[in-house]
Amino acid sequence: MNANMSNTKLVVGNWKMNPATGDEAKLLARKTRHAASLLEHISVVVCPPFPFISAAVPGKKSPHFHLGAQSVSIEEGGAHTGEVGAAMLKDLCVEYVIVGHSEMRSLGDSDEMVSKRLKAVLDAGMMAILCVGEKVRDESGSHFDFVREQMKKSLANITKSRSSGVIVAYEPIWAIGAKEAMKPEDVCEMTIFVRKIFSDIFGNDTAQKVRVLYGGSVKFENAADIIKIGQVDGLLVGRESVNVAGFVDLLKAVDEVK
Ligand code: PEP
Repeated sequence: MNANMSNTKLVVGNWKMNPATGDEAKLLARKTRHAASLLEHISVVVCPPFPFISAAVPGKKSPHFHLGAQSVSIEEGGAHTGEVGAAMLKDLCVEYVIVGHSEMRSLGDSDEMVSKRLKAVLDAGMMAILCVGEKVRDESGSHFDFVREQMKKSLANITKSRSSGVIVAYEPIWAIGAKEAMKPEDVCEMTIFVRKIFSDIFGNDTAQKVRVLYGGSVKFENAADIIKIGQVDGLLVGRESVNVAGFVDLLKAVDEVK
């Protein structure tokens, strides 16, 4: 059992810049929603590209299927060409927003920017999925310092009372889009570490409740072990989330984890 004692696993599908058309997005969302509705212990969040969010809106609300977004503007509105604000996402029934994804960080998002995006998400009453993770690993263990700094800086403007709106997704960059995921035993070490940092920042009571996800080359074959041995509360899935058959198998595998 993971630290927040919940038996419901959160599986977030980050569709990235896929699929190519609104019709495909609609179908993908419908099939994912249907699969989630048949499972007991799963809550799925799909994060389509902005133009396809409305295509994924469910006909009726379900505890098993939710909408997410891949980023958000730090601005509330006005002259900000190309930006999409938190209130706009909320208006589209979005409940979760990814912030600090490594692909956004590689385009220039600093920890300071991530903290502003995170605040915009919480201010709008949505849940923030904060991605952290090191680029490389070496013998010196510098990845611990790296992740600690990312968390401290990204959570700098958040009070303890608002920390319940944050989910931490540990995504080692070297495992994203790779052949292999991180070993489940190593995921477990980082799950404990992430909770320890959360405890240092907000106190032990909140650290027990925060949901910690793992992301990086998760598929049907490794999902159950990562959940069970890695002691995470869920997964952040990239490529496999747009492969319906693989994603449905992955959801079933996670649902069966006791
Ligand atoms: C991601 O980009 O967040 C991710 C986890 O991708 P993938 O599952 O494809 O490694």
